[in-house]
Amino acid sequence: MTVSVSSQLNAARPADLPAIDKLLQHGKTAALVAEYGQTLVTTQLRQLMDELRQKALAGQLTHAELAHEPLLTGLAARLSEVTASKLKTVINLTGTVLHTNLGRALLPDSAVQAVVKVLTQATNLEFDLDTGRRGDRDSLVEDLICELTGAEAATVVNNNAAAVLLMLNALAAQREVIVSRGELVEIGGSFRIPDIMTSAGSTLVEVGTTNRTHYADYERALGERTAMIMKVHCSNYAVVGFTKTTGINELVRLGRERRVPVTVDLGSGTLVDLTQWGLPHEPTVRETLATGVDLVTFSGDKLLGGPQAGFIVGRKSLIDIIKKHPLKRALRTGKLTMAALEAVLSLYLSPERLPERLTTLHLLTRARSDIQAQAGQLQPVLQQALGRDFTVTAEPMLSQIGSGAMPVESLPSFGLVIHYSGTDKAGKQIMQLERRLRCQAEPVIGRIHKNALYLDCRCLTAEQAQRLHTLWSNQGV
Ligand SMILES: *Cc1c(COP(=O)(O)O)cnc(C)c1O
Repeated sequence: MTVSVSSQLNAARPADLPAIDKLLQHGKTAALVAEYGQTLVTTQLRQLMDELRQKALAGQLTHAELAHEPLLTGLAARLSEVTASKLKTVINLTGTVLHTNLGRALLPDSAVQAVVKVLTQATNLEFDLDTGRRGDRDSLVEDLICELTGAEAATVVNNNAAAVLLMLNALAAQREVIVSRGELVEIGGSFRIPDIMTSAGSTLVEVGTTNRTHYADYERALGERTAMIMKVHCSNYAVVGFTKTTGINELVRLGRERRVPVTVDLGSGTLVDLTQWGLPHEPTVRETLATGVDLVTFSGDKLLGGPQAGFIVGRKSLIDIIKKHPLKRALRTGKLTMAALEAVLSLYLSPERLPERLTTLHLLTRARSDIQAQAGQLQPVLQQALGRDFTVTAEPMLSQIGSGAMPVESLPSFGLVIHYSGTDKAGKQIMQLERRLRCQAEPVIGRIHKNALYLDCRCLTAEQAQRLHTLWSNQGV
């Protein structure tokens, strides 16, 4: 045997592991059982002992680790971890208001209350209270959507990707759909127009070039197998320079002549003209429908500021076909969505009050001075917490709307910029700091740009700012 005496003395063997029964009788375990229940405590304890056994077999377990105290502290930590929610709230300081990876639109309180109500009580989700018969869940919001957009009819599904898929499958399966090459978009997370076409069983007919598509290109592509002309909003990019797109008005004329529906995937879409609040122009659903297009699809949780949902609005004869399609049943929205959606859509009945009532618009229209005040209050606390190796400054910066709305526009904002001023590599230190903030109990998500960490305060609530203030002054980062 070549095992050294010292390692023999220090290393614990599997036989040294305490019996599970003994540990279950310990007072501290009893407290854990009271909190988490017998089953969970026992399974977690078994797993912990298995791991320790493996460690012992590898000769890496010390006797100190087998004392009851540290062992049961470890058990408590495991229990707290497995029962903690995986879906956590985070503080979005990325500067992107509608951040897809961070859950897009935040809902106003009226929507929250509406959801809470339907969570625990039966509802008339698909029940017509007048006739006592089965109802249609779309009818809960259809009138409201039609009033707000000027559409004849509307249907709601799980998201806009589902809306496009359903529209194509119901109206253009086994047939051709004409799209400009400049509009074959990929939205993050694998929504690509060509792939959706394939999934829907439609044949994509690309016309024009990336930068220029003419009326004649569409005209030439139209044939017996054409089911639809579709325009797609270039959500997350802009084609600039020598460009030409065929206007919706011209396409509507062509579609009428050839009796082919013209549809628009508006992406974000908005129900109100955002320029009235100094925001960049984004086409509204109403003005798009007013051109005479047959159908428009758009998202519920982008600029609209509601829950995840997708809308198909426009000509009633087409919406009727779509509503009867089997995929509509597969892609339908749940009652929580319907409750939140109805509450959010009703806010649009008083458009002048939207900036104070609709969270998304409130965040997009926040005054820079207000954001600046928040950044100014946090700056000294964060500077103190980070110490001399980092410099924290409050500076003007630019926020983004996000989710494909106005990709090239930005909003004047304010926030904290953190540079590393110590002797190590700045890039590495900034990445580590970004990680530390991201791994806080309440994660803070910023963005790194040129070896500096940017914390844009646009989406920071007063409560979150208060919590960060307290945390950073007391415990540091
Ligand atoms: C965002 C977007 C989609 C996808 O919408 P979801 O609601 O995320 O499914 C589709 N098309 C365009 C043009 C978009 O901008």
